[in-house]
Formats: sequence, C-alpha cells, structure tokens
Amino acid sequence: MPKTELNIPYSTAEEIRTTVEHLRAQAQAQTQRLSLAKRREQLLALYRLTDENREAIDDALRADFGRCYEDNNLCETMAVLRETAMAINRLETWCKPEPIPAELPYKTVEMELRRDPLGLVLIIGPWNYPFRLVLKPLVGALAAGNTVVLKPSELATHTATLIQRLVTKYLDPDVCRVVQGGPSETTQLLEYRFDHIFFTGSPRVGQIVAAAAARYLTTTTLELGGKSPCCVLDDADLPISLRRLYWGKNINAGQTCLAPDYLLCTPAAHDGIIATLRQVQDEFYPDGPRESPAFSRVLNVTQFRRLRALVEDALQTGAEVVVGGGLADWDEADLYIPPTCLTKVDPACRLMQEEIFGPILPIVTVADLDAMITFINDREHPLALYVFSTDRRRADRIIARTSAGSVCVNDTMLPTEGLYIPFGGVGQSGMGNYNGRHTFHTFSHAKPVLRNPLFFLPNLIWSARYPPYGHGAAPWKARVLNFLLAPEKLRGLNRGRSFVAANVAVLAGILAYYFF
Ligand code: NAD
Repeated sequence: MPKTELNIPYSTAEEIRTTVEHLRAQAQAQTQRLSLAKRREQLLALYRLTDENREAIDDALRADFGRCYEDNNLCETMAVLRETAMAINRLETWCKPEPIPAELPYKTVEMELRRDPLGLVLIIGPWNYPFRLVLKPLVGALAAGNTVVLKPSELATHTATLIQRLVTKYLDPDVCRVVQGGPSETTQLLEYRFDHIFFTGSPRVGQIVAAAAARYLTTTTLELGGKSPCCVLDDADLPISLRRLYWGKNINAGQTCLAPDYLLCTPAAHDGIIATLRQVQDEFYPDGPRESPAFSRVLNVTQFRRLRALVEDALQTGAEVVVGGGLADWDEADLYIPPTCLTKVDPACRLMQEEIFGPILPIVTVADLDAMITFINDREHPLALYVFSTDRRRADRIIARTSAGSVCVNDTMLPTEGLYIPFGGVGQSGMGNYNGRHTFHTFSHAKPVLRNPLFFLPNLIWSARYPPYGHGAAPWKARVLNFLLAPEKLRGLNRGRSFVAANVAVLAGILAYYFF
C-alpha cells in the first residue's frame, strides 16, 4: 500500500510552555505521593490504549511505511503490550525496597535501596518504529512514578497523530502529555529543565540532546544507531544463517537501528554467500519483493534519494549489484527500493561510512578472522555485532576482542526483544539501556536508605570515629577502626583481613552484647 502524509498541527511555544510547567508542578506534587495504585491505573490504561486500538495502530503504521500487519503486530503492538503486562505484574516487586548486602562496618546498620521517581521526564522518539519507541520507554517511566512529556517523531505523521489522540483519551493529563513537532519544537522543549531525557535517534541529534541536558546536569539515556557488522565465518551454516541475516536486514525495508548494516566474509566464503542470498531472496519473496506484502517502503523521498546517492557512489567506486535488480528497479513514486546486495565494495565509499538504514547490504571481503576484528575496531562501536559460525571458540574470539552494544551469535535482532535483556549502545551507539525492569531502573533513582540503631553495641562501634583519636587518650578507637575498615583479604594472597575472622568477630560481639 503506498504511504501517505498527514499534516500534524505542531505544538506552539505557549502549548509547550504550559505542558512542561503543568507536568513539572505535578511532578513536584507527586514525588511523595504518586501511589502504586495510580501507577498501576496508568499502566492498565496504557495496556488498554494499545490493546483496544490494534487496528488503528496497524492502519497508522501501514500509512507511514506500507508495512504489513504481521510486522506491525510483532514489532510494535506486541512489544508494547509485553512490556506493559510485565510492568503491571511486577510493579509491586520492583517498587519494594531491596536489601543492600553489608560488609563489616555496616553489619549493624539497617540498609535498603529505594527506587524513587526522577520527576519530570522527556521521551523523544524516532520515525522508524514510531509507536514502540515512544511507548515502551513510557511504560518504565510510568511504573517508576514520573510525569512524562512525549515527543513522537514528526516524520511518521499518522502514528504521531494517533499517539496524541490515544494518550489524550486514555492517560491522565496530570501524568502524561504529548508535544508535536520537529527540530524547532524539540529545541524549544530542550530549553526547559527535565529530570531525565530518554532519546532514541541518530548520534548527530543525540549530541544536541546531550548538550542541552548538560546545561541542567540532566541525565540522559541515548539509544542511537550506527553500522552493525555481520561476520559470516567460513564455517557458518549458510542456509540458516543467511535467512536470519536477510530477515533482520530487510524487515521494515532495513530501517531498523540494529539491522545488519554490512556483511564481512573471507574470499573462500564469498561465492557461497551470494548464491545462498539469491536463494533466500527467491524464497522470501516468490513474486518479487515489490509485490510482497511483507516488504515495506522507505519513509520518504529524502530517504529514497539519500540511499540512491549512497548506492550510486558505491557503484562508481567499483561495487557490483549481486542480488536485486539494480537502480533501474527503484521507484521513487512508490518509495520502493528492492533488497539489494553489493559486492566488491570499497570500504572508503560513503555506503561504508554512514549508517545505511535501508534494504541495501554491502558485502566486504577481508583476509581472515583477525582482519574482521581489525575492520570492526577501526570504526565506531556498533549497536549490535552479529557473528555467524558453528565454531563457538572462533565466535568468542571476535566477541572478546571487539566492543558493541550487544552481540548475537547465529541470529540478528534478538537483543532488542527480550524483556530481561538490557538493550542499549556503547560509545557512539548510545548510553544507558532499557527493557522490562531495566526500563524501570532507567527512570528511577536508586536511593540507599540507612538506619543506624542507637543501642549500645552499634553506638560503641561507631563512636570509634569520634575525636580525640589520640593513641594515648583512646587507643581502642584506632584498633577498632583499623579492624573494621581493613580491606578484605586478597584471594590467593595472604594479605588483608580474613572474611571468616571478621564475621566471627561480629558474631562474637553480638553474642557478648546479648549474653553479658
Ligand atoms: P533523528 O535523530 O533525526 O530524530 C530523532 C528525534 O529527534 C525526532 O523526534 C526529531 O524530531 C528530533 N530532532 C531531529 N533533529 C533535531 C534537532 N536538530 N534538534 C532537536 N531535535 C531534533 O533520528 P531519526 O531519523 O528519527 O531516526 C533514525 C535514527 O535513530 C537512526 O540513526 C537509528 O539507528 C536510530 N535509532 C536507534 C534506535 C535504538 O534503539 N538504539 C532505535 C531506532 C532508531
């Protein structure tokens, strides 16, 4: 289905001001009293918002991307429902104070870790999965008891409009509101003070957001992009591996933050990979990708032309199309770009310099496994690293000698879906993480609360801190402190205090206190 565009009324400066000021006042009023019941009520409303509007969500995403129901359901609606259901069911457990383990001097102190709301938080979303990438972080923000400003991407116009309509209908306006707009409105929003900013988007805008946040020492989570490499080793199981790789590359027409960006292989594996990719292409799209409901369109003409320029540049520098029909098959009016694999790609060409974010897979041949490691390490840390191999030790060698937000062996895309997986980048691919409980932690402050009892033994122990310290006046103080604060014994070396001796000493002290 061809995509259409909708005119979104952008928020005015006055609307942005009143939204932020209202939610700021609510955050201040609520810090102490946004009850679990209220959080649960909002999470249930968010669940209903998604569940009762599956069709409208699918329609909006289809209009924005020409994306099919199965992909919309799997990647957006279900992802939000799973995250929300988990938060509803675990809310009480997550919010319970957690015990803090105590080393020797703290054995007498009662300690717990509380998770406080941060206050007023801002969530800024990108256009490529415009529903989930705004509402999944919202789940953790609500569970942690914050008030929230949502700024969906202005480029996925149908989804942005729907998000505003549904949030206004289902959620409490004292807790969550939507601001609409592009760079100018986001810049105005960033003038205000937030207690946390959760940004998903490009590294370039991530820098702008981080710089704005720094003005108020506001913390940020930056979920960014980059070039995620796929190392296909000579021993890989090609039929299974390349199906998994090609699916991850071409879902949403390659417009996925952790889509495989390029394929690294050796000359020995090269021809087999190309032959298998051709088979996979025929198997996935028997009537051709253009006719397949499972193959999406790129977002807009800007993206289409950007990708065309990248491929033209690669072809001029010696690359060859080995899967997909070449530029003649591209259709700007339909925003259709066929899944395209290129070989003989010059690592210096533009296609290999910027994140591709489209259904184009460059294949780069390098000498061996060590050359793959060097190739990856010569570039920015990717959001994901994929390794395809049947030899666990060879895969581990790459994993141990490279850095990436997450690693997946013999598959693609999995790190983002698991609710127990802290999903996020490293270096240029981002900072912080989320999913399930990790999202709740991202939006809360871990506040240790310590209570030191007033009775005799703890008082005696802790009074060793007080002056006068002098050896003459109170030699016992120095001895107590030296014993209590001595570093634990170094394992395998005969230095430091024995853990057993320390615990025996405390036990003896407690028994002495109670029995004598
Ligand atoms: P983008 O950075 O252009 O825009 C993201 C958001 O920032 C939008 O809401 C936009 O309105 C706002 N924005 C744009 N320019 C701005 C400016 N100058 N000042 C202030 N705000 C501005 O990103 P995009 O094109 O929407 O999304 C694609 C990027 O997002 C890719 O790099 C992709 O890898 C990344 N991404 C990352 C993840 C992840 O989870 N790590 C997920 C999806 C997308």
